[in-house]
Amino acid sequence: SSERDAQLDWGKGDGLLPVVVQDAASLRVLMLGYMNAEAQAATRASGQVTFYSRSKQRLWTKGESSGHFLEVVSIDQDCDDDTLLVLAHPRGPTCHLGRASCFPDAPGNFLGTLDALVAERERERPAGSYTTSLFEKGTRRIAQKVGEEGVETALAAVAQGDEELIGESADLLYHLLVLLRARGLGLADVLQLLETRHR
Ligand code: AMP
Ligand code: ZN
Ligand code: ZN
Ligand code: ZN
Repeated sequence: SSERDAQLDWGKGDGLLPVVVQDAASLRVLMLGYMNAEAQAATRASGQVTFYSRSKQRLWTKGESSGHFLEVVSIDQDCDDDTLLVLAHPRGPTCHLGRASCFPDAPGNFLGTLDALVAERERERPAGSYTTSLFEKGTRRIAQKVGEEGVETALAAVAQGDEELIGESADLLYHLLVLLRARGLGLADVLQLLETRHR
């Protein structure tokens, strides 16, 4: 991506290109902004997403007053070089309304939302949370829970009704997310491999 900078097509809209920002861990779309060449250079130099704000009419480093910076992981461009895609680690809620994303969560992506919540529990370890208690028991205990829930899911599939199978599947998926996180991994790591196999 960085090698192709010179070929960006800045000519189409007053020297501004739209920039889609995605969470590098969950791949959720966080926000859309605009960069001019100067904003793009500032983003590369600082490692923090810097837009050209059309309302402020100046460079705007996302997080400059809130502290909720977007730490750049990668910058790519689309097929015809007129749109940028930035993967970033958000330092806090990206939306100024206090939400993780400026957009509603995609329908059907609750697993991604749950994965992000599990990651937050791992970082913040709030008291009274079952997820916190699992992280405190450690990887071996969480792995054991995944084993148990896997067996319960298999048993439900052959000997119980739909309600039981759905319930055990929910337990299994949740504990699997916790286990991945205990090993420093996330849903995105697994989905990326599944996608590779699909191609
Ligand atoms: P921040 O860049 O997070 O320090 O926020 C500074 C100001 O930028 C806020 O008061 C809002 O006016 C605006 N702002 C922050 N985040 C967004 C966003 N995701 N989309 C649009 N405007 C934003
Ligand atoms: Zn394009
Ligand atoms: Zn917003
Ligand atoms: Zn169970």
